[in-house]
Amino acid sequence: MFWDRKTETLKGKALTALQEKRLKTTVAQALKVPFYKKQFAAAGIRPSDIRTIADIGKIPFTKKQDLREGYPFGFLAVPLKEVVRIHTTSGTTGKPTVVGYTRKDLSAWADLIARNMYMAGVREGDVFQNMVNYGMFTGGLGFHYGAELLGVTTVPSATGNTKRQIDMIRDFGVTVIHCTPSYAMHLSEVAEELKLSLPTLRIGLFGAEPWSEAMRKALEERLGVTAFDSYGMSELFGPGVAFECPEHDGLHIWHDSYLVEIIDPKTGEQLSDGERGEMVVTPLVKEAMPVLRYRTGDVTMKMEDGCLCGRGQKIARITGRSDDMLVIRGINVFPSQIEHVLLNVPEVGNQFMVYVDRVNHLDEMTVEAEINRGYFSGELSDLARIQKKVVKELRDALEIRTTVKLVEPGTLPRFEGKAKRVIDRRSDAL
Ligand code: ADP
Ligand code: ZN
Repeated sequence: MFWDRKTETLKGKALTALQEKRLKTTVAQALKVPFYKKQFAAAGIRPSDIRTIADIGKIPFTKKQDLREGYPFGFLAVPLKEVVRIHTTSGTTGKPTVVGYTRKDLSAWADLIARNMYMAGVREGDVFQNMVNYGMFTGGLGFHYGAELLGVTTVPSATGNTKRQIDMIRDFGVTVIHCTPSYAMHLSEVAEELKLSLPTLRIGLFGAEPWSEAMRKALEERLGVTAFDSYGMSELFGPGVAFECPEHDGLHIWHDSYLVEIIDPKTGEQLSDGERGEMVVTPLVKEAMPVLRYRTGDVTMKMEDGCLCGRGQKIARITGRSDDMLVIRGINVFPSQIEHVLLNVPEVGNQFMVYVDRVNHLDEMTVEAEINRGYFSGELSDLARIQKKVVKELRDALEIRTTVKLVEPGTLPRFEGKAKRVIDRRSDAL
């Protein structure tokens, strides 16, 4: 039941037919929202103009700002009494937006989470600790109900008190964890400090923020898990939208539930497979709050069909949001690239912060990293050597010059939820 082979591997005409049928239903549902009525009128299109997947290009994009303007309930396509739950986005980029769910939405969402967990190898008999915020953030309750549906023993530990989280993992024999990659790193540091091993862990589901391949390697080694990338967004239900399969080469974005386009964020033009751009998603199964051609702001690309596991459409690991991208003297840099470089330098730890300033009209980037005592002699000359090495590695990978500051281990901030590692102090920065 949780490996719905027929749906997950659907191809060709059968897939297109399913998507088109669901797209038409979604358009009809969206047109119950005044915003979409106006959008269609302004674009001079009628619902009957949307017949094929290609016709989607006729529909104007929906932006986060549109949802903000509809705050709180302006985007509901059903009466509030049919909405059995609301969540909000984390508000990483501004005022949170509200999302609503009917009973049917909650069931479809839990199905998707269960499908993803099953794909990652989670089975009945596993003990699952859900170490994310259980409030308005979709990651908590979203994973919770999916896990219960799958039938695993679910520990709703939420965030905080890392020592207690470690005790629970050890006492309950937890085999699967879900959290942000930055919290997973923190957890592993605390376990190491306390000299407590976590031998029962086998699978780590990590998501809600960008992370790098180097981070995957570090987490797998430190926690003894196989790590899976989990992508989601509140406006598209929450987590469960796209997920890695055991091939660990891109994330399957569920073709029966989401239509994906990759566009050039400047021109809005659709890009081809293999070209990186902003992901635009039209969910196909949402009832309370359908959105059409939603601009996620997330940067990725569509991958070619043909995963060894047999499932359909994949996207590459998300590099970051288009608004996370730093432009330093004209060069584009994502924090996840900095993470990748630093994690490959053993002399520094796994935590970092990035500061961007404008000095004499020039962008200056400063990276703070913690020294790793195991690789540091304590001599001043060694400090200079490490600093030079980090500067060189960053320059080689990113083609920019940075100032590197080495700090004592344990002094940089740790994050329980989404990490905020970049502080842009340029006056024209958003
Ligand atoms: P907010 O947009 O306020 O942070 P959400 O909690 O809905 O609220 O977060 C969704 C966003 O989180 C995505 O748009 C994306 O930028 C980020 N995100 C989620 N999962 C991943 C992932 N696996 N890799 C990279 N970014 C991710
Ligand atoms: Zn696959």
